Amino acid sequence: MLIALLPGDGIGPEVIAQARRVLDVVVGDRLTYEEGLVGGAAYKAVGHPLPEATMEIARRADALLFGAVGDPDCDALERRLRPEQAILGLRAGLSLFANLRPAKLFPELADASALRPEVASAIDLVIVRETNGDVYFGEKGIRTNAAGRREGYDIMCYDEDEVSRIARVGFETARARRGKLCSVDKANVLETSQLWRDVVIEVSADYPDVQLSHMYVDNAAMQLVRNPGQFDVIVTGNLFGDILSDQASMCAGSIGMLPSATLDANNKGLYEPIHGSAPDIAGQGKANPLATILSAAMMLRYSLGLPAEADRIEAAVAKALAGGVRSPDLGGTHTTAQLGDAVLAAL
Ligand code: ATP
Ligand code: MG
Repeated sequence: MLIALLPGDGIGPEVIAQARRVLDVVVGDRLTYEEGLVGGAAYKAVGHPLPEATMEIARRADALLFGAVGDPDCDALERRLRPEQAILGLRAGLSLFANLRPAKLFPELADASALRPEVASAIDLVIVRETNGDVYFGEKGIRTNAAGRREGYDIMCYDEDEVSRIARVGFETARARRGKLCSVDKANVLETSQLWRDVVIEVSADYPDVQLSHMYVDNAAMQLVRNPGQFDVIVTGNLFGDILSDQASMCAGSIGMLPSATLDANNKGLYEPIHGSAPDIAGQGKANPLATILSAAMMLRYSLGLPAEADRIEAAVAKALAGGVRSPDLGGTHTTAQLGDAVLAAL
């Protein structure tokens, strides 16, 4: 099986290197790798954040393991050349529409959560976020309005097929877990959300075994910190999912801990930590590689059909944390490589 390895910028290459060590031990030569340039690294080397050569590797690969993109040197570039366009281009170009973000607190990290330990310890949820539609991809621009003033606009738009395919991912994910799905929208004010809710209810007819509920996004934000234990799977649109999943990550400890998967209709996926390129700590050995190591485990589970190997990696991360290894984001002084060493030792 072929993996497209896309380290990217900042701490991306540092955390990818540790994930690669772990994969080599757990699955060895059952995987082959082709490395591609993305983000600022790609712009600096060949003048584009998502070169065609990288897209070509990505199309051929069975799964993609992605570090992070973002480079302060590129801030002044026009939008289409900025590093962040690489991840949007991969999602759109490969029809990766379902972003799965599990948020679970390792018991060893109860003190790292932004919530009280007894509230935080109940978090065990997955946010299923749609990533091919919504305001990110609707018509957008800045125009002069009738009053002669500048006006920015981003059209929020969802097609019923886009909603039903993400709803199905939500129901399937819930079915494989505790059987509870909460659909998050703003149906009291938005037409897109009204359609969203109608379609989710239609799809629910195929999943009588899943308990469906609906929640407005503002209430969901409140409930996530008040009582996150009430959620099993949350399905929501691109914008609401972006915001709620960053919020959920801090409830579950550090930004350096949470993995994600973005899948297409055939479970081909792109796997990446939820954090960015962290230029402030790049090159210093301070990055926590566990989110990327856990993303590699998700890759084995969802795209490569190796769930036992995924379990082994997750258990090794828990064991490493139980042994006391802590990077600076977790309040310790261990280096990126020392965290990798601890996971390998646990394996
Ligand atoms: P992006 O737009 O790519 O999501 P961002 O602006 O949200 O990026 P991040 O790169 O995620 O920002 O960094 C936010 C903060 O979290 C920074 O202070 C960074 O050092 C810290 N951080 C991010 N990832 C890690 C990690 N793996 N280990 C330790 N600290 C991290
Ligand atoms: Mg961010």
